[in-house]
Amino acid sequence: MQQKTMKGSEEVKTKDRPEPHLVSILRCTNCQKRWTAVRPESVRIYELECPLCGKIGYAKETGERVR
Ligand SMILES: [Zn+2]
Repeated sequence: MQQKTMKGSEEVKTKDRPEPHLVSILRCTNCQKRWTAVRPESVRIYELECPLCGKIGYAKETGERVR
């Protein structure tokens, strides 16, 4: 008799599908720090932490293009 064990939580490998990343220049509206941020496309700007003051939700895109 063959017994099949189905695992409910099958690991999904995403290694071969890297998430596209965005590069943009951000400015913190709290401390005016300006920095270049690289983030996965799924991460919103308002989820980013300011590297200087450490606040989350103050980052704004400056609109400058990064190449
Ligand atoms: Zn800041």
